[in-house]
Amino acid sequence: MRFASLYFRLKINVRRSYEAAAPNRHHRAQFPTGSSCFPPFPVSRRQVAKIRPSAPSLPGDAGLIFLWKMAASSPDRALDGEETEPGAEAEPDSDPWAGLGPIVKREPVVKLQSPVSGLEPLSWSEDHRLSASNTNSISLMEIVCDIHGYCQDLVIHRTSIPVPETPCVLKVGPDPVVSKLKETFAGSKDPTVSQPFMLDRMLNPTAGSLPPLRGFKYTSWSPLGCDTNGRCLLASLTLDNRLTIHGNLNRLHWTPLVDLTEVYGEMLAEKGYQLPGAEPPLGELEDFPEFQRRHRMQCPVRMEWSSVCTTQQVQTNNECKDVGTVLLAALLENGDLVVWQFQLPFQGRGSVVSCNTIQSGVSAPSVLAWWEYEHGGRKMSGLIVGSSVGPVKILPVNLKAVKGYFTLRQPVVLWQETDQIPVHNIKCISLYHPYQKCNCSLVVAARGSYLFWCLLLISKAGLNVHNSHVTGLHSTPITSMTASRYGGSIFTCSADGSVKKLTPIFTDVAVMFKQEQIRLPEGVAGRRTHGIAVSPNGAYLALVTTEGLTNGQHPVSRSYQVQFVTLKTPDDAAAELLESSVQNLFKQTDLLDLVRWKVLRDKRIPPMLQEELDDKVHASGSTYLWRFKLFLFRVLYQSLQKAPAEARWRPSHEVSKVFIADDEGEPDGEGPGGSEGPGAAGLEDGGGGASEEQMSEIIAWIEAVESHLTREHMKRVLGEVYLHTWITENTSIPTRGVCDFLMSDPTYEDRAARVLIGHIFKKMNKQTFPEYCSLCKEVLPFTDRRQAVCCNGHMWLRCVLSYQACQTLTYRRCLLQDSIARHPVPNDPDWIKRILQGPCTFCDSPLF
Ligand SMILES: [Zn+2]
Ligand SMILES: [Zn+2]
Repeated sequence: MRFASLYFRLKINVRRSYEAAAPNRHHRAQFPTGSSCFPPFPVSRRQVAKIRPSAPSLPGDAGLIFLWKMAASSPDRALDGEETEPGAEAEPDSDPWAGLGPIVKREPVVKLQSPVSGLEPLSWSEDHRLSASNTNSISLMEIVCDIHGYCQDLVIHRTSIPVPETPCVLKVGPDPVVSKLKETFAGSKDPTVSQPFMLDRMLNPTAGSLPPLRGFKYTSWSPLGCDTNGRCLLASLTLDNRLTIHGNLNRLHWTPLVDLTEVYGEMLAEKGYQLPGAEPPLGELEDFPEFQRRHRMQCPVRMEWSSVCTTQQVQTNNECKDVGTVLLAALLENGDLVVWQFQLPFQGRGSVVSCNTIQSGVSAPSVLAWWEYEHGGRKMSGLIVGSSVGPVKILPVNLKAVKGYFTLRQPVVLWQETDQIPVHNIKCISLYHPYQKCNCSLVVAARGSYLFWCLLLISKAGLNVHNSHVTGLHSTPITSMTASRYGGSIFTCSADGSVKKLTPIFTDVAVMFKQEQIRLPEGVAGRRTHGIAVSPNGAYLALVTTEGLTNGQHPVSRSYQVQFVTLKTPDDAAAELLESSVQNLFKQTDLLDLVRWKVLRDKRIPPMLQEELDDKVHASGSTYLWRFKLFLFRVLYQSLQKAPAEARWRPSHEVSKVFIADDEGEPDGEGPGGSEGPGAAGLEDGGGGASEEQMSEIIAWIEAVESHLTREHMKRVLGEVYLHTWITENTSIPTRGVCDFLMSDPTYEDRAARVLIGHIFKKMNKQTFPEYCSLCKEVLPFTDRRQAVCCNGHMWLRCVLSYQACQTLTYRRCLLQDSIARHPVPNDPDWIKRILQGPCTFCDSPLF
């Protein structure tokens, strides 16, 4: 193996400010092919003695402890995904997962209407949406951790973004001139002009010798917190080079927010297609090379989002305000990198703060990724660019506008051989190096059937770069690669359907990989795989597949499907949720869904989990754990429901009864939490094995946990009221009502709350400032946390965040639909706007 033996390591002094690796400064060494993926690093004995004893006591990072455990176990033991230890602690008899291992097929299978297109057709967002690019649209699948159903399958909401109606024509000059030129080029007697013109879809998207391309080439999800609802945006690139950003602002509809190809084309036209420092024009527009150059300088190849950068902005009143921005980098055909900076929340063209073009100098560029590194409180970033002829390098990104961010002084070459092995995909993973005791970045790139890796580490000695290739992973080129955000596992697949998992294990100096074959379950195995994507917390792997060979024959027609397999057991997921440092249920939807599945299947909360959760809730009182508890009770309630004998839509007597109960339950915005939840009707026949006492006990638990969470949030709101008002008259928050509501419960013993309420009463000076019904002007009493009813029977729902009665026609709902909140209005003070920005107090999901 040629790559197995190539390895270089370079040191750059950090005092010379992250200077780049001069390509001739690295040295190569030959290593026996046996140790292909982890060359032996020279480590002095003293170093080992110093490092070893302290290694197990790593900083409290669960991911690291996991890694340490992996490193401790022998790397050459049987590497099956099926015999992982966690199953051992579960009860072997009653656990339906026992013997199955972590990898189980998860229903349903989602059928795609048209064949997938482009590169890496599957992508999983941080807010649990999957995009699948195909020739007609982008199919979007949102995973919802449903609390209103007893169906064990994944609950998936589907939407789509269609391919634009009109083909994208890049603007290179005045329209009449360009169309005349195209005729000239097409009819040119010179075959070196007419042939490349007719055979190039970029120059010639509508006419020409080749049919126009239809479909999507690539999609990229922004981080969380970018759209007006605090969720992810989707950047998409069509096969005919249109780069747009879409937002999903209401539940069903995706709106195109900006066409960046068009905006960039206009900017180039203004500058006469000449950028400072870039290659000079190759003559006039009438010259074919210049005509080509103007196309190539605006034709996107790929795009990737950075993390959200927070910077401080001084307001006109001299106050500092945190402003969030995000960067979108687009790699262009000619090797240029365009870095767009957007103000958050992103609303369209007006949110563009800046647009900078960087010359990468990479020929035949194929892929890019952000390099983001945190070292000693300093954030470094750069862009990793790969080429379809081999090389990989990191380029500095200098953005004066983004304060507090640093970059490299010069490009760093990670792989420099032009060996004609294309770089297909690059991922950059942040890890903590347990031996060097600092952060490091692991860059992995799929190159042909090899996985190229590079470990970057800034130490006192400088920027260290270690690299090598993992060989022998796949027998055919890697078609797709995905990496989980936390934990650092990398998954690769090839067209023959084999999926490998690579787990980095730190050695004293660099890293080696534990390789596992993912044994795909029946129904998924043996199919042709076009793309894979791992869920944000590594609970699921999604695969887009078509039929494989049958008896050595290709199928006559292919149907495209998105399939799901689990990568963790529900017990592992529950343990991760308990120990989570994220403290947000919504961000861990994938893990939560595994637990939901188990509760629905077993019709009970795993006793171990319940016990541990109770202990932890008791010890810490964290509202996150209370919300986890509420979630478990709600799912348990659903699991004990009896399924209706017939489909709900069929007009039968019994079913209509369920419907009415459902409709009545809805306006309360409370789901099963209320004393007369939608499932109550289903129970009348004796329920699916649960007695009525059991069910009412669960309802009482749900009610108790909801009340606790409400009181905790009320306390927070009252704290804000106290901090931000002199007299509470104009707060619009029903302060008196909330105070009275808290005090009215004799069982509620909370000293801090009583003290706070005492202070607020002093401020209010015996006045009550009630809310009034907008229909009859009567007083709206505060007797119920969910709704307000005036004496004339007008009923208004209460906002779950501010407890105001929502007296407007529109309001927001949380993703799980267990509560509602009002929209902020322009004359709300900032602190009320902040309260209204929070997630649902019951389920942590966004409200929109
Ligand atoms: Zn009224
Ligand atoms: Zn909710």
